[in-house]
Amino acid sequence: MGVGCSHLSLSLSPSAFPPFKAATTSRPSRYTNPFSSLPLNSTYSQYHYCPYTSFTMSLAPSSIPSQLAAWKPGGSDEVLSDEFLEKVVNDALVWSALHGLVVGDRSNSRSGKVPGVGMVHAPFALTPTPLPISYWRQACELAPLFNELVDRVSLDADFLQNSLSRTKNVDEFTGRLLEIHLQMLSLDKKEEIRLGLHRSDYMVDSETDMLYQIELNTISSSFPGLGSLVADLHRNVLEHYGKDLGLDSRNVPENPAVNQFAKALAKAWSEYNASSAVVMVVVQGEERNMYDQYWLSTVLKDKHGVASIRKTLAEIDVRGRVLPDGTLVVDGHSVAVVYFRAGYTPNDYPSETEWRARLLIESSSAVKCPSIAYHLVGTKKIQQELAKPDTLERFVENKDHVATLRKCFAGLWSLDNDEIVRTAMDKPELFVLKPQREGGGNNIYGTDVREMLIKLRNEGNDGLAAYILMQRIFPKDSLSYLIRDGISHTEKTISELGIYAAYLRNKDKVIINEQSGYLMRTKVSSSNEGGVAAGFAVLDSVYLT
Ligand code: ADP
Ligand code: MG
Repeated sequence: MGVGCSHLSLSLSPSAFPPFKAATTSRPSRYTNPFSSLPLNSTYSQYHYCPYTSFTMSLAPSSIPSQLAAWKPGGSDEVLSDEFLEKVVNDALVWSALHGLVVGDRSNSRSGKVPGVGMVHAPFALTPTPLPISYWRQACELAPLFNELVDRVSLDADFLQNSLSRTKNVDEFTGRLLEIHLQMLSLDKKEEIRLGLHRSDYMVDSETDMLYQIELNTISSSFPGLGSLVADLHRNVLEHYGKDLGLDSRNVPENPAVNQFAKALAKAWSEYNASSAVVMVVVQGEERNMYDQYWLSTVLKDKHGVASIRKTLAEIDVRGRVLPDGTLVVDGHSVAVVYFRAGYTPNDYPSETEWRARLLIESSSAVKCPSIAYHLVGTKKIQQELAKPDTLERFVENKDHVATLRKCFAGLWSLDNDEIVRTAMDKPELFVLKPQREGGGNNIYGTDVREMLIKLRNEGNDGLAAYILMQRIFPKDSLSYLIRDGISHTEKTISELGIYAAYLRNKDKVIINEQSGYLMRTKVSSSNEGGVAAGFAVLDSVYLT
């Protein structure tokens, strides 16, 4: 069910369960915390110090049931039958198909271009993942603080240009973004209406019991639409089967992400104050995650009466212009708000055409979500710079807010810190090496960290500036049923919590600054990367404990 649908035909046969597939895990065994030996002037502040000197991690995977029926998410010893689980999975697949929890099916070549053709259910976890309520509250509390921080940092052009000055020499993509930023500075261009639709991602480190930020997305934060639906799906599953599963649907928090983001887009549109103008969604030429985007534009239209158009950067270059008063006009439509769901990766700029379109948008008076400055604030290099001692204080006056923000910063270093580079070569399993890229699949883990560091060192200093080093977080694993292509797999998994946040201001007036729903993503614990669209993780929701 829900597998390989198109708008007219649905497969009627239920999917069979595959034989149980055991998961493996590859975590380091006993090792010493290398951070304890860092110099005092290191960028790794005292807040990051893990108060342990050594700990044990088992190399052996924890015991996994030999068959699907032997495990129950509620933690009870009671055994669930295969028939029961098959029924729950089947119902969940039907629900997904009927409620639009879908993505384009890769096996259909038209599924990334034509809506309603070649849909398959989005990959999801059958039941929500437990999360202690204290972490939930902490992550929610951080949302408005990060919103303010992004806004403040975006106004400090020198900080952005200086922090990224070495990166731009070795990373052409970041260099091009900085060039547009500079051009706007030279025109003294001010963004008076500023809209941020962010997602801050976190993992809970099992050794320190700390909630750490993985990254802050300021461009193209994906899954507000489908993420909202997964919470609904889980509540539906638990309303029907909660007793047998030992789970209560009231513990799954509502997920208003799609409504909140649509509301923020609508408010930005009304601040722009041009009643016939539209919201323009900047999209990739082929987009299998189009339904997530369509959920947002549908709520925008149905609830707020705001029309939207979808255009690629190439189309905007050919069919767009900026009028002398600054109005962006594309295909005859005045554009009030530009919402980027493309433009975050070099792949979205195959030629000068796309860069011209980005510059055209930036030079217009339309509200950009994000502006070039907001985009730059979301780079991994800026995340690392903000983690340096005394840097947050430049942007945040309130000391409590500084402490709250800093508490979620994991260890982050630039590669001109010789000592940490040596430590990472020695213990690569404790680090993640990150280039200035978004969208999943770009980070380097394990022994590859050592090899890459050696290679970059041998090539000379500049290459190192393209990367940052991050402390690796090890979340506690649990068992989940992951449903992909109509097939259920029982896996050892780890989860990443994303908190959406919307921010809108017009000059001095803050109109919206709020937490706006969430996204839980769950992946096989042996997988390094975490993106759903990139094929590593499934969509999930939260079960508060
Ligand atoms: P991207 O912009 O590609 O999404 P991220 O920084 O979010 O980059 O990294 C991608 C994925 O890699 C994350 O979703 C997470 O699963 C994993 N990851 C990133 N940083 C860490 C870390 N410090 N420790 C453990 N896993 C990480
Ligand atoms: Mg990410």
